[in-house]
Amino acid sequence: MGKITGFLEYKRKTEPYKPVEKRIKNFKEFTVPLKENELKEQGARCMDCGIPFCHSGCPLGNLIPDFNDAVYRGKWEKAAQILHATNNFPEFTGRLCPAPCEEACVLGINEDPVTIENIEKNIVETAFEKGWIKANPPETRTGKKIAVIGSGPAGLAAAQQLNRAGHWVTVYERDEKPGGLLRYGIPDFKMEKHVIDRRLKVLEEEGIVFKCGVHIGIDLPAKELKTEYDALVLCGGATVRRNLPIEGADLNGVVQAMDFLAQNNRRVDGKKKFENEIMATDKHVIVIGGGDTGSDCIGTSFRQGAKTVTNFEILSKPTEGRPQDQPWPFWPMRLRTSSSHKEGAERVFSISTKKFIGDEKGDLKGLVTSEVEWIKEPGGRMKLKEIEGTEKEWPCDLALLALGFTGSEMTLAEQLGLEADPRTNIKASPRDYQTNVPGVFVAGDQRRGQSLIVWAISEGRQAAYHVDRYLMGGSDLPLKGEGDLPRV
Ligand SMILES: Cc1cc2nc3c(=O)[nH]c(=O)nc-3n(C[C@H](O)[C@H](O)[C@H](O)COP(=O)(O)OP(=O)(O)OC[C@H]3O[C@@H](n4cnc5c(N)ncnc54)[C@H](O)[C@@H]3O)c2cc1C
Ligand code: SF4
Repeated sequence: MGKITGFLEYKRKTEPYKPVEKRIKNFKEFTVPLKENELKEQGARCMDCGIPFCHSGCPLGNLIPDFNDAVYRGKWEKAAQILHATNNFPEFTGRLCPAPCEEACVLGINEDPVTIENIEKNIVETAFEKGWIKANPPETRTGKKIAVIGSGPAGLAAAQQLNRAGHWVTVYERDEKPGGLLRYGIPDFKMEKHVIDRRLKVLEEEGIVFKCGVHIGIDLPAKELKTEYDALVLCGGATVRRNLPIEGADLNGVVQAMDFLAQNNRRVDGKKKFENEIMATDKHVIVIGGGDTGSDCIGTSFRQGAKTVTNFEILSKPTEGRPQDQPWPFWPMRLRTSSSHKEGAERVFSISTKKFIGDEKGDLKGLVTSEVEWIKEPGGRMKLKEIEGTEKEWPCDLALLALGFTGSEMTLAEQLGLEADPRTNIKASPRDYQTNVPGVFVAGDQRRGQSLIVWAISEGRQAAYHVDRYLMGGSDLPLKGEGDLPRV
């Protein structure tokens, strides 16, 4: 283990942020890395528990106490090997994961948990810096061809695993560059895009082919792909946005969050002209929806020079600490305050938007809200109730709808005859990730609905194992937590 008395000697320390007034001047990442001795102390806090609950907290089953110990001892290369044994892209999770592992850390019962996520980021950054992360193409090829559709974290993880098994892998992506929501959803201030490019270079050197700007089902029929390849892995994400069908929703200035975020990421990437320019500059911005997407809209609006940014959440304000009915080691629904919230946004809970108000030109100028309360019905269901007499008008020139996603697009399902559940997630059991059509697999948000990067990577890895097994009768690829299944 790390240092036996480490958790008694050292306090939790995370990367500080650059001051708000400096960081909102650009779209760059703004964390200030800890020094090596500070990171070793953080690694030393790990108690190497008999049952490391952090393992089960992490959807990848990352071997957390092992890499913490290696960091404490200054064995960074060993730490990088341990980390990459379970996680293809720790540079994504080390920056962006909400770290359910830390909520499950045993030290977290009565102390601050180990800074697992930050240690993870520093291990992989050290590994890139030292040149330890190199292309490792397979020695032999099976001759089997696999198409992965979608290049988000699920598609990239599936592709790398299948390539490691010796198959020829082609990734199809309809956007101009690979990365999925990592590239066109998550803003650069959370993860600069050279971090994706650096990893893509390794994947390409390993032999994976990327075909961007190809919309499968539209540019190329899915059935054609099915004939050409030995297996398909659908990793198209959960891309259908939820709307707010209320009066005034068609006014100029009522915008889907994803249109706003994707356009800004392209602007940061150098694109100059857009058909419909969406900017928060000098505007009163209201972000409707309190999740990750909403938080990213807040940070982006401040960086574009918004006058004010307000964030609405229809749910009531959660408690700061762990609610009593969500005990350790479970993921608690408690108040989460992101770096973007801290940049000056006003957060309003228990509020519902009733209508948008426009001027004579059809431009948004305000919106009307009501306060709401959540009432527990007999049987335990929660019901939303408006509080009479609480109507309020807010000035607003830009309303960003960050209301989540309802499911995945159905074009491929229709073309291939795939079954979907009522939420339009493509049906496949987490036992083998195979759809009702043999040889067609699905992973990530397209299977489980809108989720997390760590889950997408985990699903991509798991699906790869089952594709390999389907093609070869068995697989030597690692499978989370279960050991190898017998060859069939
Ligand atoms: C704004 C925002 C911020 C987020 N922030 C975080 C965060 O901080 N931490 C976190 O853990 N999670 C976050 N998430 C969630 C996370 O990004 C997703 O859960 C994750 O990216 C899902 O990965 P995926 O590979 O399944 O799909 P995606 O990342 O959605 O990738 C799917 C890809 O498939 C492509 N595609 C779809 N259909 C086709 C087709 N027919 N032909 C070709 N290509 C196709 C799409 O263009 C896309 O590139 C965030 C989500 C959003 C929207
Ligand atoms: S991937 Fe996420 S849950 Fe897993 S160890 Fe890293 S921060 Fe924790």
